[in-house]
Amino acid sequence: MKPIVPFVHSLSEGVALAWADALQGAAPDIDIRFVTDIPEAELGKVEVAIVANPDPAALTSFPNLKWVQSLWAGVERILREMPGDEVQIVRLIDPQLGDTMAEAVLAWTLYLHRSMPTYAAQQAERIWLQHELRTASERTIGILGLGNLGLKSAERLTQNGFNVLGWSRSAKDLPGVTTFNGADGLAEIAAQSDIIVVLLPSTPDTRGLLDARFISNMKRGGSLINFARGDIIERDDLVHGLEARQIEHAVLDVFAVEPLPETDPLWGNPHITILPHISAPTTKRTASEVVATNINGYFTTGKMPTTVSRKAGY
Ligand code: NAP
Repeated sequence: MKPIVPFVHSLSEGVALAWADALQGAAPDIDIRFVTDIPEAELGKVEVAIVANPDPAALTSFPNLKWVQSLWAGVERILREMPGDEVQIVRLIDPQLGDTMAEAVLAWTLYLHRSMPTYAAQQAERIWLQHELRTASERTIGILGLGNLGLKSAERLTQNGFNVLGWSRSAKDLPGVTTFNGADGLAEIAAQSDIIVVLLPSTPDTRGLLDARFISNMKRGGSLINFARGDIIERDDLVHGLEARQIEHAVLDVFAVEPLPETDPLWGNPHITILPHISAPTTKRTASEVVATNINGYFTTGKMPTTVSRKAGY
């Protein structure tokens, strides 16, 4: 008999069905079911669940649950909602997600590099004014976070001729990328970068990390792209930095409250480009293949994939 793997989610019905189809298609050797379709006698046999914003109470139906596979790369919410350490969490590490994010990072870096916000504002005022071009090699991009998404983004930017710096928790040696770590490294990367790209997880150490101090360390007139999580940036400090023109422009894809409320003043800020959390959506087909490999591997070898560190928060 195939092992039953519940799919525990709080998605809309249509989205959940599409995910269930993709997952089942990629993993024919396991029996993926919605919680309500699992008979009571089978609940105790469940060892692994696939989760997408699960109601933690729903997971308590499985007394022998050992680990959950999240369909998302960011796990701060599930860590908050499942505080105990009886159940391990595996997050999504999908190479396709890295490629999708790298493409978004390149796109919005080019948007800032080629002064698109300035030319859009000029068009609105019917102003014909040419600004001097800087080449990509004269532009330094600092990436905060060199994980699955940050590494691919750094690679894509170097391929496009930018001068790339990176900052991570542990020291790294990367070809073509100057790397930093620690608090001094953060100040240094802020000072040297024309554009800062945030690809950090939201953890107790990174929440509020980009504050007034970080902003005052930034090169005057630098820009910021946040594709990670809204709470990593101190919102009021950012708005103040933009008003003071310490920061020229911010591209924000993520917010502390999503969707961003219609009444939020950020919408009307001319120095902010707002995106509705679209920089790197999960691709169902490739994510389902990653999930299938992880779960099949566990049932064949008994080995759990790499789990999230509750202590580090990612
Ligand atoms: P990851 O592989 O876990 O990489 C995280 C990186 O951040 C690592 O390089 C890590 O350093 C570094 N880091 C963590 N804590 C740090 C700290 N306190 N100081 C310095 N560096 C620190 O994560 P990922 O898969 O690249 O994803 C990053 C985040 O992107 C996710 O957590 C999620 O929130 C966000 N995301 C957003 C979207 C979107 O559509 N907007 C889509 C997917 C993901 P080490 O290398 O030393 O461990």
